[in-house]
This record gives sequence, structure tokens and C-alpha cells, in this order.
Amino acid sequence: MKTCNNCGAQVEDVAKFCPECGFKFGSIAEPRAVVTDMYDHTSEFSPEDIANNKLYAILMYCVSLMGIIIGLLAAGDSPYVRFHIKQSLKLFICEVILGLITGALFWTVIVGIVGGIAIVVLAVVDIICLVNACKGLAKEPPIVCKIGFLK
Ligand SMILES: [Zn+2]
Repeated sequence: MKTCNNCGAQVEDVAKFCPECGFKFGSIAEPRAVVTDMYDHTSEFSPEDIANNKLYAILMYCVSLMGIIIGLLAAGDSPYVRFHIKQSLKLFICEVILGLITGALFWTVIVGIVGGIAIVVLAVVDIICLVNACKGLAKEPPIVCKIGFLK
């Protein structure tokens, strides 16, 4: 037996409509359509792994390389931590490359401006990653993931 979502009547499991109120089963009870986000890997990790190692992931987006090293040493065997090590390493490499280019060519106004904007964008990406890590998600950093290295 199952309970009608609409009127609470007890209904046979196989019933397509509630005999009491005519409610159509499956219209609400059906599983929600999963929005496939190819950059969201949260479902690939066990909830225990995420719960136990969330803090390391958060740390990586707070203190960058320092957090990566801490995560590697403290929980390097956790798939969830390894995922975030890869993502934050990607971010870190982008920041370093961008910093070097902007630093070397800042006198050419255009690089100075574009580089400056890109640094701000990367900082925003880092904050998004930090928020996702706080939520216990395993999402690739936006924009940076499009570059497609360190898969
Ligand atoms: Zn009903």
C-alpha cells in the first residue's frame, strides 16, 4: 500500500490514480529530472568521504598551495580530497601563469588591464569553489575547467 500524496488515502501500490480523489500518481512522486552538469562530480564520491574531508577541500581554496600540501599529507588517500587537490592545483597554476604574464607585461597597458580583469575573475572562481567546497560539492572550477588540463 502507498499513501495518496493529495488526500492521504491508502491506495494499492499498482494504482495509477487515487480512487478517493483521482490524484494521478507519478506526477509528483517521480524522481526529479537530474540536471546533468558535466563539471559536477559530487555523486562520484561517498557522503562519508565528503563529510570527513570537507575541511581539507575548504582549506585548499582558502590558502591555495598550503592547503593542497596539507590535504595531500593529511588525507591524500581520500578520492574527494584528491579531486579538490587537482582542481585547486589547476586554479593555482592559472594564477601563477597569469601573475607571471601580467607581471612581465604590465607596462603594455592592454596586458595590464586584461591581466588585472583576469586576476579578479580567478579570484571570483576561487570564491565559487570555496562556496561549493563548503556545501560538500565536487564541482570543477568554472571557466578554469574549460581550459581542460589536469583532467
Ligand atoms: Zn487521493
